[in-house]
Amino acid sequence: MEPIYTAEQLAEVKAYHQPRYLFSFIDFALTPLVLLVMVRWATRPLWRVSERAGARIDGLGLKLPTKLWNGPGWAAALVFALLFFGVYSLPDIPIEIWFGYFHEHDHGLSRASPAVFIVDSLKGKLLFVGAVGSLVFGLFGLARRTKHWWWLLGVTASLLMLISTALDPYRGRIYVEQTPLPAGALRDRITALMAKANIDFRDVLVEHTASRTVRLQAYFAGTGPTRTIVLNDSLIAALTEDEVLAAVAHESGHVNEPRWPGRAASSLVLIGFLFLVELVFRRSAAKQWFGIAERADVRTLPVIVLVFTFGLMLGNPISGAVSREREYAADRYGLALTGDVPAFRSMLVKAARTNKMDPDPPRWAVLRGMSHPPIGERVDAIGR
Ligand SMILES: [Zn+2]
Repeated sequence: MEPIYTAEQLAEVKAYHQPRYLFSFIDFALTPLVLLVMVRWATRPLWRVSERAGARIDGLGLKLPTKLWNGPGWAAALVFALLFFGVYSLPDIPIEIWFGYFHEHDHGLSRASPAVFIVDSLKGKLLFVGAVGSLVFGLFGLARRTKHWWWLLGVTASLLMLISTALDPYRGRIYVEQTPLPAGALRDRITALMAKANIDFRDVLVEHTASRTVRLQAYFAGTGPTRTIVLNDSLIAALTEDEVLAAVAHESGHVNEPRWPGRAASSLVLIGFLFLVELVFRRSAAKQWFGIAERADVRTLPVIVLVFTFGLMLGNPISGAVSREREYAADRYGLALTGDVPAFRSMLVKAARTNKMDPDPPRWAVLRGMSHPPIGERVDAIGR
């Protein structure tokens, strides 16, 4: 059978991925060190600046945040959290620009203009500031009121995650325009395929990403009544109808995956982590870390982020392994659904070539938590 890449194409794919692996390795090794250094040497100076700025903002006499926070001091806490994340992610900005813009353009993967890249980055930063605000008021604000906050917040966040999955189809629109797939043969065949798979869906949408990226994308967003099949314009342009159906068939393999074990596990992990945070709160007040006198002081944030980062380092390999198994299962399901082996294979090969997927990434990169099996192994598994 025809290999995925010619020698020349493979060299280009490797040239695209090599610096990304190198950076990913350095990032993995340095992140905990940077956080340790920040915990030790940045907490106090950042707090001094935050207290001064906070006192000025308090002077404005804003009533709502004071009420949410259950007393004064919210402004210093918010400034501290923003400063901490700002300083922590500052070195990432040039790296994000290089990998996100220049490297993508050099290898012909991105078509985003500088303006689009900047606007998208700013939208991301704005969402992040919103998230930091919710973290400060949600976590620290609640913990200041009650010692039961960790399970109250854990249960609430678990329920919100359920709702959030249902809202996924709407989130994509923050970045790109989506329009319904026009009536015609493709829509009819997708509808028939979903009827065969016994999967309800709300709509098939085309995501207009061609002005930003050459990559092919297909995914299902939402759940139950909000389930939406999303195909990007490049995918529809590059694939034959049979290949589009193969991609949709793969995605429908994810629909019937057991969700509840994963949801229960992540809720338990979340509640366990929040309890660990409560222990940090108690210990920091008892031992007066960084001059802390009370539980739930925002100066513990760098310690909490450090604990969280270690948690991710342990958790990502596990969730990645589960996810890769599910991808194989979705491939098998999709193949059985359409019964069209050649179209499934050529869909994967076209996606690999266009998206420049590495057929055999280094083992450590896979084990660290890649969500998909290496494309070479996926293509090999089809014939079996
Ligand atoms: Zn998949």
